[in-house]
Amino acid sequence: MNQNRDPLEHLDRFAPLGQPAIVNRIGVLTSGGDAPGMNAAIRAVVRSALQHRMEIVGLRHGYRGLLQQEVQPLDSGSVGNLLQRGGTFLKTARVPEFHQAQVRARAAQSFRELKLDALVCIGGDGTFTGAHLLWLEHRVPVIGIPATIDNDLYGTESTIGFDSAVNTAVQAIDRIRDTADSHERLFIVEVMGRDSGFIALETGLACGAEEIFFSDSAVTVDQAIDHIRRGQKRGKLSSILITAEGRKPGRAYDLADQLQKKAGLEAKVCILGHTQRGGAPSAFDRVLAARMGASAVEALKRGYCDAMMSWTRGRIEAVSLTQVLAHRKKPPEEWVKLAQTLSS
Ligand code: ATP
Repeated sequence: MNQNRDPLEHLDRFAPLGQPAIVNRIGVLTSGGDAPGMNAAIRAVVRSALQHRMEIVGLRHGYRGLLQQEVQPLDSGSVGNLLQRGGTFLKTARVPEFHQAQVRARAAQSFRELKLDALVCIGGDGTFTGAHLLWLEHRVPVIGIPATIDNDLYGTESTIGFDSAVNTAVQAIDRIRDTADSHERLFIVEVMGRDSGFIALETGLACGAEEIFFSDSAVTVDQAIDHIRRGQKRGKLSSILITAEGRKPGRAYDLADQLQKKAGLEAKVCILGHTQRGGAPSAFDRVLAARMGASAVEALKRGYCDAMMSWTRGRIEAVSLTQVLAHRKKPPEEWVKLAQTLSS
């Protein structure tokens, strides 16, 4: 890879090539599921925009704020003391009506009434689908910052919030390991990630889980039983299975039922649930948010849009939203084997 190439040159432009982009006023919003580090990303966008002498306003409750003109003026002070806080102070929302073309047309009209020149959208793939359509249908210049605990976005090695969510799950499971070990018990821990197994996989590997279940994994209940039995034969009396809240082999309680019916194994269930969304962002997520936020404003200043900021091999780059949305990122299946090998 040529480290000197311009990381933005392949992107769509809203300013004609060779001419300066006119970006006097930016709107920033957080949308979809909240993720630790969203506040850090807003802070980075706000302070970078101010540094470039741009005006910046927050749009509250995701796309609803754009539609209903719920505007929050932002200055450097309004994002003070936020870096370490989970959630999003601009609030987030799911706005299903944004799927309708006429609603997006109203949003574009609102964008112009608010005299905005560009939008920074912080969220996941649904948020970026809406943003991409705003650009394609109405030439609203958009830049996406990936913030979702699921890490399920193609084009970036990590999304803001993923590292924090994994760390929260790991801390919880370390505690469960202590009690599992003391009572010589089998535990099933359910983590988030209905359609995406990244949290399950990375948490499982970090905690030495005996087996990890998630939507793309080929692991079966019979394999888990074999694994537990082998462990028991060599004197291992506690085990932890991790399952994403997904479809295969069902929710944690379904898995416990199957273990009981198939092998008479008694399992305790612990569902971590929304605890994984809250809490202070990890240092990694804060730094990622800082770098992505600053780069998003820089991209707009240079006239580029319709892109998501990405973290690739340590560099902050930009990937076109067309690319991001055309692909599905899958967790590496070889990590499952590694987790099995290391816990056997
Ligand atoms: P997470 O991965 O954390 O759930 P997300 O951004 O994928 O985040 P969604 O609820 O899927 O979360 O999407 C957020 C918002 O984006 C939706 O409420 C809706 O307003 C808009 N959106 C989602 N999908 C589309 C779509 N296909 N067309 C237009 N807008 C969409």
